[in-house]
Amino acid sequence: MGRRILFLGPPGAGKGTQAAMLATALGVPHVSTGVMLREAVAAGTELGKRAKSIMAGGDLVPDDLVVAIVEERLARDDAACGYLLDGFPRNVAQARALTAALGDDSVEVALLLEVDEDEIVDRLMKRAAEGRADDNEDTIRRRLEVYRQETEPMVAAYGDKVVAVDGMGAVDDVFAGVVRALV
Ligand code: ADP
Repeated sequence: MGRRILFLGPPGAGKGTQAAMLATALGVPHVSTGVMLREAVAAGTELGKRAKSIMAGGDLVPDDLVVAIVEERLARDDAACGYLLDGFPRNVAQARALTAALGDDSVEVALLLEVDEDEIVDRLMKRAAEGRADDNEDTIRRRLEVYRQETEPMVAAYGDKVVAVDGMGAVDDVFAGVVRALV
């Protein structure tokens, strides 16, 4: 059945970077709702048009839209041998939808990347300078608030599936921690 891994952690924790490295190492698809939504915005699809201003404000795109794109993605052949979820589920309702669609085994382990708040703001401000549309000071604050209100409660919901990984070091050191968490 392959590995079904979920990355949890605040914006700027390095989920995207670590998930991409791990997906390559394991040979499973990296399913990132942030990437899929940004692609939809860039392509100007119906979904993209609805998501654009919501994302720019740092709020969550409605659950039904996000759940639909993830279900479609996970139904593709390459996800039959496992997958790595990054940015989804992002609240308890999305987590319930995932379990309803694919069962309790839809997440085998939830890797929680832990990074200090000061470091997060630093990293996101740096990314802002590189030009991502939702990385500006107000939006960063809003995304951290949304994380605390909506996403963090899922850490408790996933209970003993959660394994904490120190996200503070250099990319390769964090990756070593990710690999250690999975053996
Ligand atoms: P980050 O983790 O740095 O906030 P992402 O790329 O995961 O970045 O997400 C960027 C934006 O895309 C979010 O702020 C939100 O607006 C939207 N988004 C991504 N995933 C989801 C999701 N599962 N549910 C709702 N909105 C989402």
